[in-house]
Amino acid sequence: ATPTAVMVATGVGANNGVLIKGGDALERAQLVKCVIFDKTGTLTQGKATVTTAKTFTGMERGEFLKLVASAEASSEHPLAKAILAYARHFHFFDDSSATTGTDNVAESGWLFDVSDFSALPGRGVQCFIDGKRILVGNRKLMVENGVDISTEVENFVVELEESAKTGILVAYNDTLTGVLGIADPLKREASIVIEGLQKMGVIPVMVTGDNWRTARAVAKEVGIQDVRAEVMPAGKADVVRSFQKDGSIVAMVGDGINDSPALAAADVGMAIGAGTDIAIEAADYVLMRNNLEDVITAIDLSRKTFSRIR
Ligand code: ADP
Ligand code: MG
Repeated sequence: ATPTAVMVATGVGANNGVLIKGGDALERAQLVKCVIFDKTGTLTQGKATVTTAKTFTGMERGEFLKLVASAEASSEHPLAKAILAYARHFHFFDDSSATTGTDNVAESGWLFDVSDFSALPGRGVQCFIDGKRILVGNRKLMVENGVDISTEVENFVVELEESAKTGILVAYNDTLTGVLGIADPLKREASIVIEGLQKMGVIPVMVTGDNWRTARAVAKEVGIQDVRAEVMPAGKADVVRSFQKDGSIVAMVGDGINDSPALAAADVGMAIGAGTDIAIEAADYVLMRNNLEDVITAIDLSRKTFSRIR
């Protein structure tokens, strides 16, 4: 392709909200063998919503939600935001004993004071309330901290996961106290884009830090066969490299801070425009419309621009 053709293609991309950082990236996209998609916020809408909150120790519901929300208040994780929104709503609107407005209530004024907060990547959060430890996160977090998971709790979590929800476990004073179910619907165009890629001869893959059962349920819904789950934040780049081993040209699509090493490792990194700045910086392409159809637009554009000179 001539420099002019590259310039024209870059302009066509820009008009469609596909920002291409340079001619090399534009050229590589035609050769993409597989596209690895992050799950949360990329295939899904990234609008996590709590659908279930169940306590197992008889702790009162409002108290339980207030504890969990207090623990998550310092977390930037989308799951934390969903939990806070749900607990806040319950506290101010659903609980008759609570006040009925947010007047004169500071953002976090209704929460417990916490100390020694720590975010544990790929696991959850830990902090202390009145000297008692509270853990909010996945099974791995509970197991690593010696919190016992009863069969009743395990069965409840499995049920959530089989319906594509993420189960978040809560331990208070090192006793499993309750579970939250969180749903994050697929983007409307997700399945059709996966089908389109397969028709183009491109293999779609899903990678996520979420658990295997939820991951498989989501993958099945969207039509992806190849899934990598329970991947630690640093591990997504390793997944990219494993697909590159046989010389394949690999694209990665992601939105989160967690995804930036993988976006950088990929031959073609595509960041969702609504994603974090770090992901956008690490990527070769930015999909401004936050629409997965633009993954196909990007590959098409490259194929059309470069097909004539090969
Ligand atoms: P991804 O962005 O790929 O979905 P993460 O590595 O951010 O994955 O998270 C993996 C898992 O760790 C989540 O599915 C959840 O179970 C747990 N987790 C991480 N952060 C939190 C948090 N703040 N609160 C509760 N659970 C969390
Ligand atoms: Mg994500």
